Amino acid sequence: MKTVIMAGGKGSRISELFPDIPKPLIPIRNAEGIEKPVLQWEIESLAGQGFNEIILTVSHMHERIEDYFGNGNQIGVTIEYFVEEKPLGNAGALFKLRNKLEEDFLLLNADSIFDIDFNRFVNYHRQKGGLVTLFTHPNSHPYDSGVLISDENGAVRQWLTKEDVRPQWYRNCVNAGLHVISPKVLDVCGVVSDDVGREVDGKIIKVDLDRQILKRLCGTGKMFCYDSPEYVKDMGTPDRYEAVCKDFRDGVVQAKNLKNKQKAVFLDRDGTINHYVGFLRNIDDFVLLPSVAEAIKAINASGYLAIVVTNQPVIARGEVTYKQLQEIHNKMETLLGVEGAYLDGIYFCPHHPHKGYEGEIPELKIQCECRKPKPGMLQEAAQDFNIDLSQSWIVGDGENDIRAGKAAGCRTALVGVADYSQDVTISSLEEFVKYLN
Ligand SMILES: [Zn+2]
Repeated sequence: MKTVIMAGGKGSRISELFPDIPKPLIPIRNAEGIEKPVLQWEIESLAGQGFNEIILTVSHMHERIEDYFGNGNQIGVTIEYFVEEKPLGNAGALFKLRNKLEEDFLLLNADSIFDIDFNRFVNYHRQKGGLVTLFTHPNSHPYDSGVLISDENGAVRQWLTKEDVRPQWYRNCVNAGLHVISPKVLDVCGVVSDDVGREVDGKIIKVDLDRQILKRLCGTGKMFCYDSPEYVKDMGTPDRYEAVCKDFRDGVVQAKNLKNKQKAVFLDRDGTINHYVGFLRNIDDFVLLPSVAEAIKAINASGYLAIVVTNQPVIARGEVTYKQLQEIHNKMETLLGVEGAYLDGIYFCPHHPHKGYEGEIPELKIQCECRKPKPGMLQEAAQDFNIDLSQSWIVGDGENDIRAGKAAGCRTALVGVADYSQDVTISSLEEFVKYLN
């Protein structure tokens, strides 16, 4: 599979720090003290995963980039260049490269730092069978980011910019600027290939990737979100560059790659994150406990994944629909997002073992493997995120949580006063974070 990296950006704000270096050549140092240009780290990561046919679209100071990387042989890849002599917009080059793009390709933005499991991303794309897959992730400021709204199958329904009116409650699902794209999209998006770069009335015809190509696929069922907790961050300003450098030096960027074993804090929902009200049926009853957002922020910063695992027998009982539960979880994500905290995953068990109640959904009235105290949800998450359960925690307010955690081989923390042989006992999630190493 070919990889197209858009490396033509001028990076005007970051260039305050590096006035004489094109953005892709800005150096970053790893834990061993080895310093390489950001683009080289990225290309080496791709090469290490079998992606060694690279096309760089370049413009600003392109000679410097070409001199540095040459044909790529030195770092085990082949590199072709597309030099944009006049600005074509961030997707214009794709039309000029159309004959080289016969199959689905990776399209990456050199403006951010990332280290992700590309094969996992591509496999998801193939499994969905869409034209485009967007790499998405939760971030610490969804309220002022563009967000994507997708259906239960992951197909994107709406693409909301930060200026657009959004629903009251929404998932923290932010486009990270990495894509798998079928070249067919270029043929059906309505852009006339021959027009790109032509001058009409003194203006050059450009193409904007998001606006003219991707957004048009919303609601068609052909564009999917790939949610991942892996590290992708913009380094476009001096502040962000400093933060990214620190993460790189500390090994955080690389550690988050899902090829590497992850560790997680599994969080019970009712009574741990939000006030316990018995069976929560009404979204208005969902209220965050004090300082929970701060605690989850600390988990986010610790390198542990924050993953909710919750029994929701209200579904089997016919009291809450899947759609209503989704809305409750959207509220949870929105409220946390306002305070800068996010969840990497939400797992729920809709089942309940006892039959014979009015309004129940018979097919969900089963003995399942996911209802806590069984460890099914933790094991499923471990599969999905490559989690080492022995390095992970569960935090909950009930015996079921502690038993599920033990059955999965996790360390356990009880919010409360009872004794279920938990490893630690705490009065709130906030108190738990001191146990994270
Ligand atoms: Zn279940």
